Amino acid sequence: MSARPDLPPVDLLALGAHPDDVELSCGGTLACFARRGHRTGILDLTRGELGSRGTAPTRDAEAEAAAAVLGVAARRNAGLPDGGLDPFDPDQRLAVVRVLRELRPRVLLLPWREVRHPDHAHASALGEEAAFRAGLHKVETGQEPFRPASILYYMERYAFEPTLILDVSADHGRKLEAIRAFRSQFERSDDDTEPATYLTRPGFLESIAARDRHYGELAGFTFGEPFRARGALALVDPAALLGGGTGRAPGEGGGER
Ligand SMILES: [Zn+2]
Repeated sequence: MSARPDLPPVDLLALGAHPDDVELSCGGTLACFARRGHRTGILDLTRGELGSRGTAPTRDAEAEAAAAVLGVAARRNAGLPDGGLDPFDPDQRLAVVRVLRELRPRVLLLPWREVRHPDHAHASALGEEAAFRAGLHKVETGQEPFRPASILYYMERYAFEPTLILDVSADHGRKLEAIRAFRSQFERSDDDTEPATYLTRPGFLESIAARDRHYGELAGFTFGEPFRARGALALVDPAALLGGGTGRAPGEGGGER
């Protein structure tokens, strides 16, 4: 069975261990691609049921609201166990293969492996395993084989030397709005009975914005999201090297500053 005709493939799919991982790290990129008319998707591997705050149904509803803010065409949840992601588990790999073959993304965004949260490192490895296996004819799911053309890694807490930085200046407001949609994770009221976490600490959202500003500054943008590739990036359209539609060369700087 090929992709459903009423459900066209996505151009770009971002995979995360928990609902909100993608918004925090590359929400601006998803919003930017959607604004430019590309179809985007998010695959959450788990429902975040081990999270200190909120319930799985709450986070489902929040994930839906956040996807709408970012203009995401398809959001899927693989329903894998939070705290139990295992890149060597054949069933878990197959669950991700099925979504890749359904959504057929040309570009797959994964968490960079060197991360604070072990689930995120496992999500990264599971995404790689599944992306490779999705292209193998003998891995049977009843769908046509498919392999993403490229994989890029997004940055979380630990920095890496970026291969590229995407200009998300025009999309940064929507990124923050999408993060705020996860109210159970980020908002804390005076009568709150749930525990405070790393995410509810004052200044957390500002720290996200500061990082995006930092990487934007490195590339001459107001806000930028950094990515890393493991191999060389292919260049088909030379115009992409000349400023790729931003009207300025990389590193030349924003016109408003
Ligand atoms: Zn997470």
